[in-house]
Amino acid sequence: SYRKGGYHAVRVADTFAGGRYIAQRKLGWGQFSTVWLAYDSRTSKYVALKIQKSAPEFAQAAIHEIEVVSALTQNDPENKKCVIRLVDHFKHTGPNGRHFCMVFEFLGDSILQLIKYNRYKGLPLNRVKDICRCILTALDYIHRQLGIIHTDLKPENILLVSTINPSNDPIRSKTGPILSKPVGSMNNGGGCVVNAIEKKLKQRARRAVARITARRASLGGVRPVRKENRCLDGIDFRCKVVDFGNTCWDNRPKADEIQTRQYRAPEVILQSGYTYSADMWSFACTAFELATGEVMFAPKTGQNFSEDEDHLALMMEILGKIPRKIVIGGLRSKDYFNRYGDLKRIRRLKHVPLARLLTDKYKFSANDARELADFLIPILDFAPEKRPTAPQCLRHPWLNKSFESGVQKLDSEMSKLQIK
Ligand code: ADP
Ligand code: MG
Repeated sequence: SYRKGGYHAVRVADTFAGGRYIAQRKLGWGQFSTVWLAYDSRTSKYVALKIQKSAPEFAQAAIHEIEVVSALTQNDPENKKCVIRLVDHFKHTGPNGRHFCMVFEFLGDSILQLIKYNRYKGLPLNRVKDICRCILTALDYIHRQLGIIHTDLKPENILLVSTINPSNDPIRSKTGPILSKPVGSMNNGGGCVVNAIEKKLKQRARRAVARITARRASLGGVRPVRKENRCLDGIDFRCKVVDFGNTCWDNRPKADEIQTRQYRAPEVILQSGYTYSADMWSFACTAFELATGEVMFAPKTGQNFSEDEDHLALMMEILGKIPRKIVIGGLRSKDYFNRYGDLKRIRRLKHVPLARLLTDKYKFSANDARELADFLIPILDFAPEKRPTAPQCLRHPWLNKSFESGVQKLDSEMSKLQIK
């Protein structure tokens, strides 16, 4: 793809925008672009420099993304809405053509990397809640204030807010930005952040345990600390939604097919029209994945059925039968369903309600399972207009009510802390 119309090849120390940005190392890439960590010599900060492929269709997509992220940044002067911020944009001409470039604030690992880091076991529920609050804040903002649908919400597109600022790193400031060694093991898009989180969390966990033990002792009786595999408690998680290249305005013409397969809403599969609530579906799938470590729906093509049909079957196995009104409402409905509202080519479905799936397969306590299912089931309504909106979800007890009290809470805090 490094040819005319394609990616722009970058080498470390290449400069952009008249020398303002200095390339440091590659952070990642997508279908449309490569993304580099760059040093902003004007502000002495690190930024993420996204260099778009140069062909006209990519330039067009970049213009759209710049329009959207500019609006996102301008309408959030206080930086409270959990969306990526655009710092600058310009064009850069190289051997493969003219490339649109976007300069974003530098963020950390994606929450997909966080899930991997936690060995696909799922994150502690308090951390899941932190992340859910951030995503919902972003969705509320982009839906209500800007009128846009993200259309590609998934763990890969939620990035952690860096807990360290590389420009404050002493090694770096002594030797200058270009030659200094990257912080930590920054080899694949900021492993540094997770390393920093781990270090910080171990410190905090030790301190917290000491504090809690003292408090428990004063309440009478000291319990031993249970060792756990999960080790992400005690850190204040913040994250931001990124990748606005595929977004659409709700009031403008839309693409038929949106969303990454596993996070795709039923109305998109059936082609019955979609709106903001399609993002809510993807949000629920993302929340499930954070809590369990596994993708909620992973459809496959079979010998006599399509990936779409398998996907609908998987949905019905967890969520029950699709109401008739929805089944018949899509352009693709007749391809998949008979007139009784049953799938034509996949017959025997094994119904396992969400709460039971969480206890049986993922070993949640009955209480945790019930509470999470209570939060997710309404968002996974087959009827898009019945799904709660982002602000409604933010008010749900799962994200607000503290179910525990006093000693009970101390116990559960203790049990979640990990000491190695
Ligand atoms: P594309 O639109 O080509 O898919 P993305 O915007 O998704 O490009 O970025 C590609 C990758 O670059 C991301 O998956 C991520 O690893 C990395 N990346 C993007 N933006 C940032 C950022 N602000 N900070 C750190 N890494 C980023
Ligand atoms: Mg992407």
